[in-house]
Amino acid sequence: MPVTVRIPTPLRPFTGHQAAVTLEGATIGEVLSQLIATYTDLRPHLYDKDGRLRSFVNVYLNDEDIRHLGREATPIGAADTVSIVPSVAGGVGVAEPPELTRDEVQRYSRHLILPEVGLDGQRKLKAARVLCVGAGGLGSPAALYLAAAGVGTLGLVDFDVVDVTNLQRQILYSTLDVGRPKLEAAAERLTGLNPDLNVRTHETRLTSANALDLFRQYDVIVDGADNFPTRYLVNDACVLTGKPNAYGSIFRFEGQASVFATPDGPCYRCLYPEPPPPGLVPSCAEGGVLGVLPGIVGTIQATEALKLILGSGTTLAGRLLLLDAWTMEFRTLKTRRDPECPVCGDHPSITALIDYEQFCGVAPVASPAAGLPAEFETTVQELKTRLDRREDIWILDVREPNEFQICRIPGSTLIPLGELPARLTEVPHGADAPDIIVHCKMGGRSAKAVNLLRERGFTRVQNLKGGILQWIKDVDPTQMPY
Ligand SMILES: [Zn+2]
Repeated sequence: MPVTVRIPTPLRPFTGHQAAVTLEGATIGEVLSQLIATYTDLRPHLYDKDGRLRSFVNVYLNDEDIRHLGREATPIGAADTVSIVPSVAGGVGVAEPPELTRDEVQRYSRHLILPEVGLDGQRKLKAARVLCVGAGGLGSPAALYLAAAGVGTLGLVDFDVVDVTNLQRQILYSTLDVGRPKLEAAAERLTGLNPDLNVRTHETRLTSANALDLFRQYDVIVDGADNFPTRYLVNDACVLTGKPNAYGSIFRFEGQASVFATPDGPCYRCLYPEPPPPGLVPSCAEGGVLGVLPGIVGTIQATEALKLILGSGTTLAGRLLLLDAWTMEFRTLKTRRDPECPVCGDHPSITALIDYEQFCGVAPVASPAAGLPAEFETTVQELKTRLDRREDIWILDVREPNEFQICRIPGSTLIPLGELPARLTEVPHGADAPDIIVHCKMGGRSAKAVNLLRERGFTRVQNLKGGILQWIKDVDPTQMPY
């Protein structure tokens, strides 16, 4: 029976510039065989030497990927439409990418001899504009490799200052950069690596007010965010501006990477429509991260960004890469666009950027203990004064033993937050019991502990604002902050 086959723009030169052709066949395989028999120049673009459909060519029957049907054996009915969709649509659309200079030809010679990049690909890279959201653990390797690879314009959004604790993983910075604005140091390092690079620094917090304007100036976004409000903001802004998102995230030893918001692929919300409740997933500052992990994940993000620009290869669009650096295991899971997705679905409910702090349930990020009534908080100065007066105070440290090893408030008792519910009998209670002051590293975990203790009937319990880091800063600088 007659079937319509839609031909994508890049393949139309091989079908006499026809956007659709009519062929006969009872299965997808039969129709494709007839297609390449009729238009013989098309064969190498669709099939590899072994006669298998190339992995970067997706074939759809109506709106279903044949990989989710019967592949080439999928039967075809009357009035069906077959579409051929390159898995990475288009690449960066620049009508006439700039020529390379003599120096550039030399610099990129290892790219130019790769047929998959070549002169045309290198010119696309030169024309490309990539925005890295965050110049931290993920943004560092991503920006360095993109600059080295010859991406013409690299934007960086960050507003931080280099801290000594960054140096364990944020390889854009050196010890001498501590205290400098990150973007100032990053721009210097990146143009030192590649003087042809146009670095654009956006020293600001990415917000719902500036994200769309910013994203529209770029071709590919690299999401190096370290918090959920920014991650959802980046996702939604990518979908709304039609910019692909090379996504990565890290925690302790585990990483994730994918490509979201391509024309046919899923977005982050197709996987995770809503963020976890605040506090359920600790930050890297609380939970730690193996320093090389962002190096691996950020480099994967850079790889995906390069393929998106080149418009070839097989990206992680439609797949979620999970890696565990401690066991060194990599897995990929299939992901699909969710027709019910609130932002990229068929009937989206989100058509403009929203308040992501509110959506993620986090108050202004400066105070992780926000939400505790004032009478349940105390300051390091108050604690010091009361200790000096030899008041009866029981100090509970809810950090982990390895943190307790680094520094501690004299006289404190260690019960890690996770063990607290099972060890409540160790906490003094009753009419004669001392006041309890709970602390952790920065005040986030201890706020949870205070809430837990209040629920269990402890009334004279307070959270130490700023945690032991504040204590060290204001009271006991002989101890070691971390
Ligand atoms: Zn979606």
